[in-house]
Amino acid sequence: MKLSFHGGVRGVTGSCFLLEFKESKILVDCGMFQGQRMVSNKNLIDVGFNAKDIDAGIITHAHYDHIGRYPLIVKQGFRGTIYTTPPTKALASIVLEDAQHVMSENARRNGDIILFSPDDVKRTESQMKGIGYHTQFEIVPGVNVMFHDAGHILGSAYVTIDVPGSETEDGKPKRLLFSGDIGNEEVPILPDTEPILKADIVVCETTYGNRDHEPVPQRNKELVKMVSSIINRGGTLLIPAFSIERTQELLYELDLLADEGVLPKVPVYLDSPLAIKATEIYRHFKHYLRFDRPIHSSSDHDFFTFPRLVETLRMDASKKINSDRGPKIIIAGSGMMTGGRILHHLIRYLSDKKSGVLIIGYQAEGTLGRQIKDGAKKVKIHQKDIDVNATIKAIGSFSAHGDRNKLRSWLKPKEGKIDQVFLVHGDEKVKPEFKEFIEKEIDSEVIIPMFSQEFVF
Ligand SMILES: [Zn+2]
Repeated sequence: MKLSFHGGVRGVTGSCFLLEFKESKILVDCGMFQGQRMVSNKNLIDVGFNAKDIDAGIITHAHYDHIGRYPLIVKQGFRGTIYTTPPTKALASIVLEDAQHVMSENARRNGDIILFSPDDVKRTESQMKGIGYHTQFEIVPGVNVMFHDAGHILGSAYVTIDVPGSETEDGKPKRLLFSGDIGNEEVPILPDTEPILKADIVVCETTYGNRDHEPVPQRNKELVKMVSSIINRGGTLLIPAFSIERTQELLYELDLLADEGVLPKVPVYLDSPLAIKATEIYRHFKHYLRFDRPIHSSSDHDFFTFPRLVETLRMDASKKINSDRGPKIIIAGSGMMTGGRILHHLIRYLSDKKSGVLIIGYQAEGTLGRQIKDGAKKVKIHQKDIDVNATIKAIGSFSAHGDRNKLRSWLKPKEGKIDQVFLVHGDEKVKPEFKEFIEKEIDSEVIIPMFSQEFVF
C-alpha cells in the first residue's frame, strides 16, 4: 500500500491524502486551501493525481478545508462513492453550496476563477453516502473502514482503515488511522473524542500542537461580563462567528444564560444564512450531540433557541436589523471577518464607543479579524476607512481543536503502540515543536511529510 500527501502538509488547510492499494485507490478528505497566502488557482486545479482513477472517497468532517476540493475532482471525472457520517453529509452540502455561491460572487466582483459549478456540487452531494459511527464497511474490495467520534464538530470522525496484505506481528491487518480534526476537551454539546483502541500508523492533525488552552469554565463568566458591559451602556455587541459548531456552542451558552435570567433582555440576531441552516441540522441530528445539562432544563427543550433570538435568513430581514437602534447582540459570519454580513455591521458599529466586538475564534494572519484583535486603531472595509473605537475582547476557550496535551494523550492507544505518526494540518513551525513534545512520551517514529511525498507499507 502507498500513502501520499496532497494537501494539509504546508499549513492547516487543504487536507487530502491518497491511499493506493494493489487494485484500488481511495482518498481521505479533499479540502480546499484557504487563507491570505492563498495558493494560486492553478495549484488548486492540479490535485496531483488523476481524479478518474479514484475509486472511493472519505470525509472526516464538514469543514471546507477537508471537503472543498471534492466538487473539483468530481468535475474532473471522479465518480466513486464518498463515505461520511450522516450529519457530515448534511453539513457538507450546505458548506459546499455556500462556498460555490461565495466563489461566484467573488468572480463577479474581482474576476476570480470559479473552480466548480452548482451542478458539480449537486453531483458531489449525490455521490455522498452516510454511514454511522462504529459500523464497519468495505470501501473497496478487502479494505475495511470505520468512523469513530472525533468530538470536533457535529458528525466529525476519525477514521480507521484496515490495510489488506500488510499484516502486523500478531497476524492482523495493519490499522491506519486518520485523525481528521480532534476536538477540544469538555465541549458542552459534543461527546468526548473516542480514545484509540489500536492503530499501527496514524496521520494526526497538529493545529494547536504547541499550545495549551485556558480552562473552559472561565469562558461563561467572560461572556456574561462582556455582554452586560456593552448592553448596559446601550451599545451593540457584534460576535463574528464561524457558522458550524462555534455558533451553536454560543447559542447553547446564551440559552443557558437566558434560562438563568442573566442574559440582558435585548434582541439577539443570528444574521448568517449558513449558520441558520447549520443550526437546523444540529437540531435534526441532536441524538449525535451530548448535552452537559438535561434537556428539560431548557424551557423550550431546544438548546439553540431562546426568547428574543431572531434568525434573519433573508437579506430583507437582515437589512431590518439596521432600524433597531437599541442595544442588541448580532452574531454574523464570517468568523475571521474576511467577508459576509459581519462587514456591514462592522462598518456601522466599529467606530461607536458604546459598542463592542467579541472574538471567539482563531484569527489567521493577514485577516481583518487579526488586525482588529491586535488592536488596530483604523481599518479598511469595502474601501472605507473606519476608526476602531468599540471595545474589542477575545475569549480563546471556544476553540474547536484539542490542545497539545489532549493530542498527546489521545495518541496512546489502549492496545499496543503506534509504529508511525505522520504530522499534518499544522503551521510550519508548530509541527517540529509538537514532534519534540510527543517524542518525550510516545515510543513511535514521528514523521513530518512533505507535499506529494509517498510512503510505501
Ligand atoms: Zn475542522
